[in-house]
Amino acid sequence: MAQQTKVLVTGAGGFIGHHLVKYLKGQGYWVRGVDIKEPEYEKSPADVFELLDLRRWPNCLLATHGAEEVYNLAANMGGIGFIESHKAEIMHDNVLINIHMLEAARLNGIKRYLYTSSACIYPGYKQNTTDVKPLREEDAYPADPEDGYGWEKLFSERQCRHYSEEYDLETRVVRFHNIFGPLGTYDGGREKSPAAICRKVALAKKEDEIVVWGDGQQTRSYCYVDDCVEGIYRLMRASFRQPLNLGQDRLITVNELVDIIANVAGKKISKKYDLSKPQGVRGRNSDNAKLRQVLNWEPQISLEKGLELTYFWICEQLTKSGRFLPTF
Ligand code: NAD
Repeated sequence: MAQQTKVLVTGAGGFIGHHLVKYLKGQGYWVRGVDIKEPEYEKSPADVFELLDLRRWPNCLLATHGAEEVYNLAANMGGIGFIESHKAEIMHDNVLINIHMLEAARLNGIKRYLYTSSACIYPGYKQNTTDVKPLREEDAYPADPEDGYGWEKLFSERQCRHYSEEYDLETRVVRFHNIFGPLGTYDGGREKSPAAICRKVALAKKEDEIVVWGDGQQTRSYCYVDDCVEGIYRLMRASFRQPLNLGQDRLITVNELVDIIANVAGKKISKKYDLSKPQGVRGRNSDNAKLRQVLNWEPQISLEKGLELTYFWICEQLTKSGRFLPTF
């Protein structure tokens, strides 16, 4: 029975991990949350929350002990500015976490193991234009992922596949496409574009200009975090062992993203382009055909609704932290 199942969520102090712990508690699970830090904005509802560094092998054995299912979300990561400038550190930390976590899961007889991969594993040569063709799961090879972060994700996906084939470990691999929402990092350098733009718009005057990284023509799809955790859960319960996209398939430019947020804020915002900043691939979208087929479901929450919830949450945080929000 779901009530008695013991699950481990790693990265439970992070953005998606914290939302996932809340969701799993709502489903009646007993949850152990593990991270190197507590959640930043509210207390974790996990039954047990442990501060453990999962780069260390004994800590992975400890974390998985007694659990039946593992959602492995722990990773050293951030937005494009961070992952472009910390490749060695990211690969070092995440290889150690994922290699140790898989082996610990095997030794401790974990029944199901979910690994959170990324759209960053898709090849650069398929993402050179803004009107990019949505990426299907099989587009991952021949490999040419995002340097550093993306290579590590692809490597760890492969290791899940080998553990599934050779040790019959029930692995699930999900490839997120730009997840956003409240309770996520919104400043400090690790934030992603939706949170960064919400913050800039919140701090802008009624009529103002904000800096946009790149020329604003780059395209992406964005998925609200409540859909993300529901998708993760559905995949864990499904019998599908191959990697699966999880995201929205509505492609928009970063310029359009700014316009939607400005509209939510009720402000007139113009853009100043900073071409010296990293902007990632030119275009990226999720092909959700397999997602619909495997999960019999797809993300439900509109971008406008998700951005509204995120924008006002960020305004609240800025106000709480004493940052001045102009109203004129
Ligand atoms: P996040 O940075 O908020 O959460 C990751 C958590 O892992 C952090 O709380 C961090 O402290 C923890 N962590 C890092 N090193 C650790 C260590 N050595 N031991 C224990 N914990 C450690 O990021 P998120 O957005 O919640 O992402 C969760 C997962 O989803 C990550 O694996 C990430 O790579 C993946 N992902 C996220 C997105 C996205 O859009 N947010 C997109 C693609 C993939």
